[in-house]
Amino acid sequence: MSNNCLFCKIVRREIPSEFLYEDDNFIVFKDIHPAAPVHLLLVPKKHVRSINDLKPEDETIISGLFMLAKDMAKDQGINTSGYKLLFNVEKGGGQEIFHIHLHLIGGWKKTAYI
Ligand code: 5GP
Ligand code: ZN
Repeated sequence: MSNNCLFCKIVRREIPSEFLYEDDNFIVFKDIHPAAPVHLLLVPKKHVRSINDLKPEDETIISGLFMLAKDMAKDQGINTSGYKLLFNVEKGGGQEIFHIHLHLIGGWKKTAYI
């Protein structure tokens, strides 16, 4: 946990957010500025700054995020139409919130070229 981290505050429910999913290790909520009809953020409860900061013991965070992404895509009805999964890494990679998260993006009417 990190005191000043926005996503840690969301995990602690200090900032009210509607969770689409929660278990002991992860939460899922809608991105506040959606880049597509479906844009979810899959967030581990453990504070890890970015992909760069993963330790060997964090392997289950990454595997868990991808397994959860698969389930959330089906839940959102976009598993067969298709979707994108994205990690932004550090400022140059577009990361704005320095608490690791996986973007699940989809729901376009046509094929996406973004
Ligand atoms: P990043 O650029 O770090 O990969 O992604 C951070 C994402 O968090 C952005 O897409 C941004 O729109 C989203 N975001 C920032 N602040 C909030 C917030 O307070 N609530 C929610 N639901 N999303 C947020
Ligand atoms: Zn955090």
